[in-house]
Amino acid sequence: MPRPISALIDFSALQHNLSIVRKHARNAQIMAVIKANAYGHGLLSTVSALRSADAFAVLELEAAVRLREAGVDHPILLLEGYFSTEDLAVVDQYRLSTVIHHEEQLVMLLASKLKNKLNVFVKINTGMNRLGFTLGDAVAALNTLKSHPIIGNITLMTHFACADDPLQKIEIMEQIKYFSVIQKKFHLPCSMANSAAILRYPETRADWVRPGIMLYGASPLLDKTAAELDLRPVMTVTSKIIAIQHLALKDKVGYGSHFQADRPMRIGIVACGYADGYPRHAPTGTPILVDGQRTRIVGRISMDMLTVDLTGIEHANVGSNIILWGKGLPIEEVAESAGTISYELFCALSSRVETQTIMNENQ
Ligand SMILES: *Cc1c(COP(=O)(O)O)cnc(C)c1O
Repeated sequence: MPRPISALIDFSALQHNLSIVRKHARNAQIMAVIKANAYGHGLLSTVSALRSADAFAVLELEAAVRLREAGVDHPILLLEGYFSTEDLAVVDQYRLSTVIHHEEQLVMLLASKLKNKLNVFVKINTGMNRLGFTLGDAVAALNTLKSHPIIGNITLMTHFACADDPLQKIEIMEQIKYFSVIQKKFHLPCSMANSAAILRYPETRADWVRPGIMLYGASPLLDKTAAELDLRPVMTVTSKIIAIQHLALKDKVGYGSHFQADRPMRIGIVACGYADGYPRHAPTGTPILVDGQRTRIVGRISMDMLTVDLTGIEHANVGSNIILWGKGLPIEEVAESAGTISYELFCALSSRVETQTIMNENQ
């Protein structure tokens, strides 16, 4: 029998969340962001659930090639573009679309002999100061691209730094204003919104939206839960209790003897640790479900195990079902307790945790 930890991926929840995107996106086309192994959910199964999206976005060239080889015919965008002329040849061979965000990429492009028309997303740096051309450089780059015979569609693109935070609206407005300078000059299709912007700033929908986290059922907004946004958790990480310990007053638990019992108590040992992707820095008090009942983690997370308080869950025993996050326990709550965000927990899920797709799990 395999170790009793797995990640259940709810196919119907993915499709439901896509329908919520569709509702908010109105007429914009949807580019489903499936970078980082679909945020840890599994690339190919996620794509098969999201077939009705209009396009997919990844960063990893190998992922894009895998999609094509699996017969995925949608436009596939490389969010960081290509890193070498060899990459660009693969982009051409597999008919991928690419972001162009830097002069170096233009130089490579102009030096290459492509066989197929190349669709590009030209990224404008509107204030996040990570990737993208400044306004002046963008004008030059766009003029070059527009007159290049091998370039097909050109889309303008930018990315928001603070769409999750209701108190930082002014930053968004500044980014939009900056972006509109280029928009007005070139009249090209545009793409701005990530999940948070799709939900909070309808004016950013433009021609293409780029949802990631909301497809996976976690809230992208700091001031709203996933349930309030009608998003359903896609990934549920489950495990089991594999041992029980009875602590006397003042007994300690785990590495560093970090937790000390202030009364006699029963604790459960769960087959899940940081080697599975559970955050080691999750402190005592982090929520967890035992047979559907909410309790807390106590003591330090080990590599392969963690320990839970069974006070008030008298029937719990070896074999009891654990939910680390997912149905009944929003990942945001675990993330917040551990001082991180849902994105990081999803992406950190270890390859040793088997993922299982479930088709029609109702809420
Ligand atoms: C990851 C990413 C997204 C998706 O962001 P979410 O917050 O997960 O919706 C959109 N656009 C770009 C450029 C990205 O890198």
